[in-house]
Amino acid sequence: MARKPIIVGNWKMNKTPREAEEFMKGIEEVLTGNENADYGIGAPYVDLDVCVRNAKNLIIAAENCHELDNGAYTGEVSVPMLKEVGITYCIIGHSERRTYYNETDAACAAKCKRLCADGIVPILCIGETEAEYDAGKTADVIKSQLAGSLAGLTNEEVAQMVIAYEPIWAIGTGKSADKDIAENCCKLVRETVKALYDEATAEAVRIQYGGSVKPTNIAEYMACKDIDGALIGGASLKVDSFKEIIDATK
Ligand code: PGA
Repeated sequence: MARKPIIVGNWKMNKTPREAEEFMKGIEEVLTGNENADYGIGAPYVDLDVCVRNAKNLIIAAENCHELDNGAYTGEVSVPMLKEVGITYCIIGHSERRTYYNETDAACAAKCKRLCADGIVPILCIGETEAEYDAGKTADVIKSQLAGSLAGLTNEEVAQMVIAYEPIWAIGTGKSADKDIAENCCKLVRETVKALYDEATAEAVRIQYGGSVKPTNIAEYMACKDIDGALIGGASLKVDSFKEIIDATK
């Protein structure tokens, strides 16, 4: 069965609720009636409610969650809280969280497991640093991050997931990965899922490329066999550029 493309913006720590509402109103006008692909926005926690209330066609994703349901974890947000707001996807293990907040593969696996239990789709991010890339360790990093971050998840859970391959050297740098590098790495992600699970799971899981995706390069990534979509930071912040990305993938 053909995989439905999925393009998701990642706002990171940008936009107040008022700015989020303005964006949603602008983008929803241009999204109407496009059913060829899934489109979404990952937004800061305080923007989620206003995004969900203004979303007609867009998926709204959280950018993180805690793996436990409640308790003494000051500053954290749980999956039941996200679910009640109407969240259906959640970015997990973005390289910024792995780097600045010491998020481990094991923590990512626990978060993905908890999300799946409530039917929220994890968008699991993996990818190597520039030093690892230069040292020829990309394949090892992909395999070990996947084994660790998917630990304990079932075939059915992984089949529903989205995995974003994002080389860290391409994130926010304007230095996007060459499409052949992106395709080869996304193919390796699929092969690794097949080795860890089975062929049906690998064929079902949707794999995104992320890292300096723009209106001018999205089409060449989307034309690649194992790339089912993109996770987009900077170019998702303005209605105009996100609209151009949507137009380029219709
Ligand atoms: P970028 O960010 O598109 O600004 O490179 C991508 C990401 O961090 O997901």
